[in-house]
Amino acid sequence: MSNLFYQGRGRKPVLDQARGVYMWDTDGKRYLDGSSGAMVCNIGHSNPSVLAAMQRQMEKSTFGYRLHFETEASEALAGRVAGLMPPHLTRVFFVSGGSEAVESGMKMARQYALATGQGSRWKVISRQPSYHGCTLGALAVTGYASLSDPFAPMMRPMPKVPAPRAYLDGLDPEDEATGLHYADMLEAQIRAEGPETVLAFLLEPVGGASTGALVPPAGYMRRIREICDQYGVLLIMDEVMTGAGRTGRFLGCEHWDTRPDIVVMSKGLGAGYMPLGAMIADERLVEPVLDAGGFAHGFTYAGNPLACAAGLAVVEEIEAQGLCANAAEMGEKLIARLHGLMQKYEIIGDVRGKGLLTAFEFMSDRNSKAPLPREIGAYQRFVDIAYERGLIVYSRRTHDGYSGDHILVCPPLIVTEAHLDEIIDGLDRSLEQFTQEIAPVLKA
Ligand code: PMP
Repeated sequence: MSNLFYQGRGRKPVLDQARGVYMWDTDGKRYLDGSSGAMVCNIGHSNPSVLAAMQRQMEKSTFGYRLHFETEASEALAGRVAGLMPPHLTRVFFVSGGSEAVESGMKMARQYALATGQGSRWKVISRQPSYHGCTLGALAVTGYASLSDPFAPMMRPMPKVPAPRAYLDGLDPEDEATGLHYADMLEAQIRAEGPETVLAFLLEPVGGASTGALVPPAGYMRRIREICDQYGVLLIMDEVMTGAGRTGRFLGCEHWDTRPDIVVMSKGLGAGYMPLGAMIADERLVEPVLDAGGFAHGFTYAGNPLACAAGLAVVEEIEAQGLCANAAEMGEKLIARLHGLMQKYEIIGDVRGKGLLTAFEFMSDRNSKAPLPREIGAYQRFVDIAYERGLIVYSRRTHDGYSGDHILVCPPLIVTEAHLDEIIDGLDRSLEQFTQEIAPVLKA
């Protein structure tokens, strides 16, 4: 028996080594990391430049508490990150993960409101479904009932508006009217809550684990910004999964030229080399908070030099290797090839994504958009079949009364066409096995 426990009793193979897009267990079995861990390892595993930068930093210092020392690594990374943001987002606050980044963004917004005489604003509107983290604050804005319900009495419930899942509602995602239809729901919610109580709107520009690479319909991103401006509501962009090049631009929201007030990032910034995240804010928000006595928030490990040195080397690799452009190019090819699988397998009801944040969704009937029967546990079964074949893909249970099972295919941004061939071949064989397995259940 192991002393470790994560979600259940199941045990996984033991990881031995990882290089580029491949990983090996201690039995020597090779896996293609088709989900970059949990959309983390954007530049692939064991990148020599990052390892060398970490080694250099380790020989100097591994920790300096941020209230005792500035460090060259954190200063340099802050400058580099700010340089990659829209021009008004100049102020960077480091953390060690996505939930911490989301908490920091919400608390920054609240302290700005307090510092500027808007203390009545505290509600953070988010979307249903969505995922913003597992700490109680981030969970309160997460639209994912099975994760949040058990803790409901311990949290302050926050308002949710529907995520713009045009494909399920039978609306044309290319039609601006579709985007306005969903954005109107945000405006209605702000009005129903009382605009003077609403602090911020929080969203993932391209949906992640909860919606499976949901791309916003035309007009949506522009209109939500207008609505936020109209009601004095801050726009917080959760780029934890989409940031650091995943969607083919450094930030996901760049695809729509959206101007967030606060951006939160994590996964691809540390890229699996070190736990790292960042909250980047408009200086118009930060200055009043500093004038009012400072930002009352922070985590012990935040901004440590080793994580920042790793993050700096990761960002340099993204730029040096042109990984945003590669993600855009390979993403288009991957989506086209997933469409090919959709033609072959009836049970794939939708294919979507941006850059290398891509997904397909299982449906038992494409017309009615009915999900596969829940008892199949398709999300887990399909992931297990692919894993057996040495292909790692990602899924979460998303039934929750909102949709069915989707599978995220999100390889590291360094993938080549040869890797895509391997991914598609692995998916094809896994789909063949899966459709055979579930045929009796579907017929019944
Ligand atoms: N926001 C988004 C969009 C995420 O995808 C995640 C993680 N899946 C988080 C926040 C939380 O990040 P972490 O697990 O690092 O706390």
